[in-house]
Amino acid sequence: MIEFSYARAEDAPGAIRLSSSAARPKYLGGGTNLVDLMRETVERPDALVDVTGLSSDIEARDDGSLLIGAAAKNTAVAANRVVRTHFPMLSRALLSGASGQIRNMATVGGNILQRTRCTYFYDDASRCNKRAPGAGCDAIDGFNRYHAILGASPSCVATHPSDMCVALAALDALVHLEGPNGRRMLTFVDFHRLPAGRPDVETELGPHELITAIELPALPFATHSTYRKVRDRASYAFALVSVAAALDLGPDGSVRDVRLALGGVAHKPWRAWKAEVALRGQQATPDSFRAAAEAELAEASGLRDNTFKIELGKRVIEAVLSELAGESA
Ligand code: SF4
Repeated sequence: MIEFSYARAEDAPGAIRLSSSAARPKYLGGGTNLVDLMRETVERPDALVDVTGLSSDIEARDDGSLLIGAAAKNTAVAANRVVRTHFPMLSRALLSGASGQIRNMATVGGNILQRTRCTYFYDDASRCNKRAPGAGCDAIDGFNRYHAILGASPSCVATHPSDMCVALAALDALVHLEGPNGRRMLTFVDFHRLPAGRPDVETELGPHELITAIELPALPFATHSTYRKVRDRASYAFALVSVAAALDLGPDGSVRDVRLALGGVAHKPWRAWKAEVALRGQQATPDSFRAAAEAELAEASGLRDNTFKIELGKRVIEAVLSELAGESA
């Protein structure tokens, strides 16, 4: 048995104090991933600091931005009226993830910090650089249907499992952090890391640093946005490929602005910058959507079981943008 202490924090400074007094602490949200990892002995914290008592408020501000406390439950965010009307891609992404029971428990902060579902990561008889740095990676020549086609490295080909995070990447979200050295903010797209040679280091979080909130800047055309997830079965499955998109068309049918991010394809939520650049100013046609998808996936590279995701990703991008363009017509 692995022993650990448990304490519930009243506020962020208290949580940081409790964390700082332990050698291997972990912040505990809903526990929907962390507790599984502890059962499998992949995570071995000596202290759990329960942060579910921190802010779970969802505050719509006058400037059109939204501040979501890190302890807000996934269900509450998905059901929030402002989220559903102003940022529907976020609500749809949340509702496509996990099960109702898990969404009722899972917090926004925990969702962001959930770890890959690569089966070798959970199996301590397998070689895994993420679990045991330097051990090797059994996924590269093993079962890799769910693995990365973009941004992978010879050290790790895992994907990030979150649906919510794909929408946050597309929406230019900001991550509010608090730690021993004070408060700071990071852009969401810079929060998670690609694996390179250190797949065990997944985020830019510093020691004892805590996610306190997520901020969605105002984005008026995000009212016209969606999230589509392609998976092996209709529910309770991780994405093979997912797309979060918002589209703003001018009166002449050209793309005035666009936000696009992909899930299930990389070690982090993948903002499709190349596709966005390729689309702006173009007529909103299937050909231009396809060309943008080709540009984004030009450097994609498949493994034994997942090469199909390259073409699948292009088709889902084209389909989602065509759907949004059709709604604008
Ligand atoms: Fe581990 Fe990453 Fe390889 Fe999976 S893909 S076995 S998580 S190193």
